[in-house]
Amino acid sequence: SPNERVPMVAGNWKMNFDHREATAFVQKLCWNLKNRKFRYDKCEVALFPSFTSLRSLQVLVDSDRLKIHYGAQTVSVTSQGAFTGDVSADMLAALGCHYVIVGHSERRKYHPEDDANIVDQVRAVLADDMDPILCVGESFEERRQGIELDFAVGQVHDVTRDLSDEEAARLIVAYEPVWAIGTGMVATPQSAQDAAHAIRESIRQRFGDKVANTMRVLYGGSVTSKNAVELIGEPDVDGFLIGGAALDVDELTTICMQT
Ligand code: PGA
Repeated sequence: SPNERVPMVAGNWKMNFDHREATAFVQKLCWNLKNRKFRYDKCEVALFPSFTSLRSLQVLVDSDRLKIHYGAQTVSVTSQGAFTGDVSADMLAALGCHYVIVGHSERRKYHPEDDANIVDQVRAVLADDMDPILCVGESFEERRQGIELDFAVGQVHDVTRDLSDEEAARLIVAYEPVWAIGTGMVATPQSAQDAAHAIRESIRQRFGDKVANTMRVLYGGSVTSKNAVELIGEPDVDGFLIGGAALDVDELTTICMQT
């Protein structure tokens, strides 16, 4: 791609794979990529397992010097204390996480994580020198009304408005239209591009050219090896956040090779 952004393939495993399955998957994926002479400097690969698998991945990645990154699917907004069931950013950083997914639509729906909570998660992640992958995207209703771009841009704006330029520079945004997640209904390359572009331009207005030109915007929602090539051809689409297709190691290998 003509820009300076290294594309990224991020596998969001959601609530799938125990630590043994996660370990076997990563070994197979890295073996596949090595055999196919995958260039890690041309495309970053990151996996997002359950909390219970992070320590196993850390040991594996460190001992075998694997070039993949990994992170968590959410994080507590508080740093420690009486919060039964929660996991802090300090704990994730100690496990070698590079990234944390923040504000995924499933977290917004089932938990719920609102904008204020998501802002606090972004801050917690940044404070521990990890990078947030902020998920935004409209539901079918906003798309039906034709307000999908305003909606996604508004979500980015609401979460980023109080960030410093330095903090914003470390953000990755994943545009994931809710109607496309897990449905097999992928966005067209043009609508993925339109949203990614609108998000980048709103970042440009608020934080300037440097942040906007280097910020990666991923597309997510029913990405497979059948549609990845067309999507990555769009100038503002810098890679993918992948759910279902990231559970199949050969499929994920192929998408990495295509990106
Ligand atoms: P999907 O999920 O690829 O299964 O549509 C994407 C996501 O939720 O990140």
